[in-house]
Amino acid sequence: MLDPAHGGSDAGLQRRGVQEKDVTARVVARIQDELNKAYDVEARVTRVGDEPMRAEERVECAQEWNADCLVSVHVTSDSAQTHGSFIHPGSGRVNRFLQQYLNQGMTEALDQEVEAGETESDILSLALMPAILTISPVSVKENESVCIERVVQAHVRGLVQAYNLQRATRTIDPPGQPVACQPLVYDLVINGRSLGAFAEEEGLLQQIQGHIGWATTIQLERVRTHG
Ligand SMILES: [Zn+2]
Repeated sequence: MLDPAHGGSDAGLQRRGVQEKDVTARVVARIQDELNKAYDVEARVTRVGDEPMRAEERVECAQEWNADCLVSVHVTSDSAQTHGSFIHPGSGRVNRFLQQYLNQGMTEALDQEVEAGETESDILSLALMPAILTISPVSVKENESVCIERVVQAHVRGLVQAYNLQRATRTIDPPGQPVACQPLVYDLVINGRSLGAFAEEEGLLQQIQGHIGWATTIQLERVRTHG
């Protein structure tokens, strides 16, 4: 699960009219596209476009989908800022393993030494799966597309090596389509009879409340709204 770390009113760093959220959105869309097209893996994103989403919601998104890992992507044009990958101080072995590979990919693709650090960010402390936060350099002097491509390759290399991803033998249809988290939809089944799918929690709970007391079975089944 790839996470553009900024969006909505949380624009991230701003420099010379460039907002971090716009660059991270492009970087993440390209990483997703590259992984889904070229490798036998399914990459999804926590948000598409400029939606405001709290860290809790983005983590929930990854958890609901049972993501193997969560990579939250930041960029900076400030050369004085540290570049590299960061994990929660309480991280276990799997997370440290992922960090080691991501850093290797970043070092190669960015052609510079990057830091393997720890940080107490919300998204890392909330995530139950291996989670990592990356900060990559995007120079304001260089062509933006060139910078973005380098950051994309840094992440792709790291993830390919960490998970030993194989070249794709299948195509995803439609290719390159962003796949984001869908709203949760539940099918409500009362006494074995389906009352239909509910996307709104309020309507669902009202139905359940109306049947408590006389129904012998109340079942909720998650409806897959995506492929
Ligand atoms: Zn940031």
